[in-house]
Parts: sequence; C-alpha cells; structure tokens
Amino acid sequence: MRKPVAEGRVLSAAEGRVDVDGVFDVVVIGGGSAGLAAAAAVAESGPYRTLVLEREEYLGGVLPQCVHDGFGLYLYGESLTGPEFAHRWVERVRGDGVPTALAATVLSVEGPGSDGLLRVDALGASLGGRATLAARSVVCATGCRERTRGALQIPGGRPAGVLTAGSAQYMVNVANQLPGDKAVVLGSGDIGLIMARRMTLEGAEVRLVLGQEATGLVRNHIRCIQDFDIPIRYGWGLASVHGYGQLQGVTVAPLRADGSFDLARREYVRCNVLLVACGLVPEREVLGSLALAPDAPGLFLCGNANVPHDLVDQVTQEGLRTGAAAAAHAAALSGKPAPALPDDLARMAGLSVREPKGRMGDMAGDVPSGHQRIVCTVCPTGCVMEASGRGGVAGNTCPRGEEFARRELACPTRMFTGTVAVAGGRRSLVPVRTERPVPRDRLFDVARACRRLNVKAPVRMGEVLKSDIARTGVALVATGECERAAHGGR
Ligand code: SF4
Repeated sequence: MRKPVAEGRVLSAAEGRVDVDGVFDVVVIGGGSAGLAAAAAVAESGPYRTLVLEREEYLGGVLPQCVHDGFGLYLYGESLTGPEFAHRWVERVRGDGVPTALAATVLSVEGPGSDGLLRVDALGASLGGRATLAARSVVCATGCRERTRGALQIPGGRPAGVLTAGSAQYMVNVANQLPGDKAVVLGSGDIGLIMARRMTLEGAEVRLVLGQEATGLVRNHIRCIQDFDIPIRYGWGLASVHGYGQLQGVTVAPLRADGSFDLARREYVRCNVLLVACGLVPEREVLGSLALAPDAPGLFLCGNANVPHDLVDQVTQEGLRTGAAAAAHAAALSGKPAPALPDDLARMAGLSVREPKGRMGDMAGDVPSGHQRIVCTVCPTGCVMEASGRGGVAGNTCPRGEEFARRELACPTRMFTGTVAVAGGRRSLVPVRTERPVPRDRLFDVARACRRLNVKAPVRMGEVLKSDIARTGVALVATGECERAAHGGR
C-alpha cells in the first residue's frame, strides 16, 4: 500500500556517502522536528562533528504528510503547514552542513565503553553498508508510533479498511488514495479530528467520531468537527468490527464507568473505513537495553520519543535544548569549547510555549442570555470567550482574540489546506493552502476545485498554482515542492 516517497526539497533523496570513520561529537537518530532542531543546535553552538541518521528517504519525520496548518504559532508567530515547518528546519540543517544519512536503519546503541563513547550500530547505503559509529553523545529523536487496532484488542473480524489515522493521512495526503467514502473515526484526539476534516473535504462522509472524552485541542474540535457538522459522541466506544474481506460496519456502544459496554444501547454504523486514532507510543526500540537506562552518560532522549507532545513547537524546543545538552557533554569529553547557542535558537528554546488550555470541557456551562460563546482558534491556547450582543468580548488573553470574535460573528473565515495532483512529477500530489483565509462556507468549493486541478511539475514552494481558486478571489499556493520525474512520472 505504501509507496516510496519521491524527493522534493523537503522529501529529499539520499545525499551521498557519509564519512563514518573517527569519533562523532553527536549522532542524532531521527530526522524529524526534534532531531533536526537538535542537530541545528549542536552544529551552530560550536565546532562539533555531527551526523543525523534517518530511516526514511526524506527528512522532516511525519510533517511532510501533515498538510494542515497550525505549526510554528509560538516559535515563528505564523501558522505554517507541516511541510512548510519541516522545510525551514531541513534548510537550516543543510545550511549548517550537517551530514544526513537517509534510509539508514539503526540496529542498536550500546555503551558507554571505558573510553566514554557510545556505539551506534547502523545499516544503510549512505553509510557504506553496516557501520559502527563512535559518538560522545547520542540524541534519540525517534518519535512515536500509533496504537493499532491489534494493540487495542477490538473484537470482530479482520477486514480491510481498518487503519490508523496516520496511515490514512499518508494515503490521502501523499499517496493520493482515499481509503473509503464512509468513515468512522475512533478517538477524539487531534489526529482523529484532523483526519475527520480531511476525509470530509476529500468527499468522504464521516459518519461518526467516537471518543471516551474530548482529548483534542478545542481549536481542532471547532475547525474540524463543528465547522463541518460531523457527528461526535463522547463516552462511546467501539464494541465490534464487522465484515469479511472489506469492512462493512461497526457496532458502537456507550461506555459504563467500569469501562464495559452498555450493549443494550448499541448501534450499528455502516462504513467502509475505520480510522483508529487512539494515542501514541514513544518509539525507543533502537536503544535496546539502554531504553531501560535512558540516563546513561551521553545518551539523550527528546521529542515524542521522550513523551508525546501536543505541539510540534514543544517538540522542536525540546530538540534545541537537548542538542545543547548533548553538545555540552561532547565538549566536556573532548576538551572542545563549551556550546553557545546562537541568539535566534536560544530565543526559541527559551520561549514560553504555554500548554494549550482550551479543551472541550471549557465549553460546558450556560451562556447568559444575549451572549455567545466563541473559542479563539488563532493559536493553540484556545481561549474561550463570550461575546455580548452589545459588542463586548471577554475571556480573550490577547487582542487577537477580540479581533477573531468580531470576525467570527460577522463572517467566519478559515485557511484551506489540502493537496493538488501533479503531472510529470516525482510525487503524485503537492500540498497547498489558500494565501489567506476564505469564507468558511466556501471551503467545500475550494476543496472541489483543488480535486479538479492538475498542475505540471516542477512545483516550487510558495508558487501560486491558481490566482483565484473557486472564485473566492484568493490565490492557491504550494506549500511543498515537486521535482520533475526522470521518466515522465505519473
Ligand atoms: S486570545 Fe490570544 S492567546 Fe487566546 S487563543 Fe486567541 S490568539 Fe491565542
């Protein structure tokens, strides 16, 4: 099912052979947001020899398939899409001259030995086959993986059509395949909500979202669920999966306080795709026995491999701080100068990235007559505001909230993000967004226009692909790149 991702600037091909002899100051395992930030912090804070090992053929981790916006609100004060956020860090690490070994699999990490060095056993063409790398510090930034249906032990048949939300995201946003047209989403965390919206905009009917409780950001509940009137039930779960060969439907039922199903109230929902979005598990298997001793000298964990985070901004900050700590450890062992982060990275690392406070529970309670409850979706904080009929707004933490409330009352607008087909490219899709928000009630028109659009490779990031998409008066721009295929492509 999963096709190899061809290269663009964010999704880049293997970059030649890496010199693996000698001792590295810092080896970073994982080229996602945490690993790239750690590598930039190391490379820019002193004369340290650094290497990034990445198992995929591209850098950026999961970000290239996250075509929605909302990344970088704290670090950059902008709402970037996943590919745009990844692009900034890929370009930064390339600019720093850090070698990256792509399609490189780490088999184990061991040590430290009597020489104080850790040993990374890895495999990959760019490493010249199998290689053992000696490093003063190792940063494990391997991210996390999704809980699968098997891990959740959902009873019923084993039909096709049951997949994790992240796999569905890859199919829709990268492989250009809609996994089904009648969907049920299990899990009300952020990725479940985001995929419910994405499937809806791609023409599928999301028949139900189920969640034990409202765990996602309130911002996502508003922009992904409420905006599209997608049915969502809290306190309900999936009792069984039905179908032979292909998924036919699911049985859903309310959950009792002891976690059992109240089957007397069960309901059957016909669907041909079930997206499982039930949490993330840190992925640290490469550490082997060291996973049980993550405080081994010189070994550093960061990002979602440490603990799953709500925001990529938090992951990136942790990568920066960890990179600085790894560089300090390497400097102490080697006698090199102590690290000094450049000003902009130090500013990012030190920013106060507030825990998003807006959760759906904040929406409970009565609103005084003549008032309207509005959730500010400008940043992940998700302030819950009340607007009175006389034009007063309360509950906002900053002036942007008041401005948002007034716009929301007059004419709600939303940024459209999605994909467009590419002819003759190394990829079949390129991610896109509208240059500015469009009226909320025109989102489906924009989505339909994007499905009809077919652009020719090459496509450059920021390129205007349509000057007036769906007669909204707003331009559609590429948020990723697509090189021309060597032999004509798709
Ligand atoms: S009011 Fe300000 S802090 Fe609160 S969600 Fe809006 S932009 Fe964020």
